[in-house]
Amino acid sequence: MTIQSVRLPVVASAVAARPAKATAAAVSGDEVQISGAPTPASAEQLAQQGTAAAEQAATHGAGAGAAALRGPLRMILVGPPGSGKGTQAKIITQFFKATHISTGELLRAEVKQGTELGKEAQTYMQAGKLVPDEIILKMVDGKLAGEESFILDGFPRSKAQAEHLDETLAKLGKPLTAVANLMVDDEIVVKRLKERGRQDDTEEIIRERLQVYHSQTEPVTGHYQLQSLLEPVEAEGQVAQVGYNVITQLNSRLRPQGC
Ligand code: ADP
Repeated sequence: MTIQSVRLPVVASAVAARPAKATAAAVSGDEVQISGAPTPASAEQLAQQGTAAAEQAATHGAGAGAAALRGPLRMILVGPPGSGKGTQAKIITQFFKATHISTGELLRAEVKQGTELGKEAQTYMQAGKLVPDEIILKMVDGKLAGEESFILDGFPRSKAQAEHLDETLAKLGKPLTAVANLMVDDEIVVKRLKERGRQDDTEEIIRERLQVYHSQTEPVTGHYQLQSLLEPVEAEGQVAQVGYNVITQLNSRLRPQGC
C-alpha cells in the first residue's frame, strides 16, 4: 500500500489553524502524519485514522494541557447530505466521548422496525423532504434529556427546529459548544452519494435533498453565526484530514475544565 505523504504541520498555534488538504501516520518532530488510505477503506477504519491523527495533533499542539481541554462537548454538525456528518460524528464521538444523535439513523431504525412513526416518516424520506417537526422534535427531546455531552447530526434542519432546540437546551441548562459547518460543493455531494447508493441516494432524490438543504437548512448556519457558535470546516478533503480539521477547531473552542 502506498502512503500518501502529505504532512500536517503541528505547532501550538496550529491547533486552531486549518492545514492544507492532507492525510498522513506517526509523529516526526513537529509534524504529525496520518496513515494514508489510497484504496477504499471502511468508514470505521477512516474514522480511527482521523481520531488518531487529531489526538496526536491536539496533544502535540496543546502540550500537557491537552487532557484538560476535554470539556462536555455539545455540538451540532451541519452540512449538506453527503458532507460526511455521520463519519465525522464517529471521529468526534471517540475523541470527546460524546453521544452521537443522528435523526436520519433514528428515523431509519423506526422505518426498519415498521413502527407507526417509521411509516409516517418514510413517505417524506423517500421524497427527499423534511419529516414534519412534530415527529422529529419529540424524538430528539427524549434523547437530549439524558445526555451531558452530545453531537447532533441531521438536526436542527430548519430555523424552526433550531429555535426549538435553543429552548430545550436552555431549559436543560446545557449550552452548545459549537456548530460545525461541513462545507462541500454540491457536485462533489452528488458524486459521493451516487457511489454510496442508499435507498434515497438516486440522483433525483439527492438533488431534491440538496435543494431542501439550501432553502431550509442553510439558514440554520446564519442563526448560529449570530450566536458566535459557527465553526466553518473545510470538508472536501479525505476523511482523516477533515477529522483533523474539525477536532482541532473544536479543541480551540473548549476551555480547560474548572477555568
Ligand atoms: P442526509 O444527510 O444524507 O440527507 P440523513 O440520514 O441525515 O441524510 O437524513 C435522511 C432523511 O431523514 C432526510 O432526507 C429527511 O427526510 C429525514 N430527516 C433527518 N433528519 C431530519 C430532521 N431533523 N428534520 C426533518 N427530517 C429529517
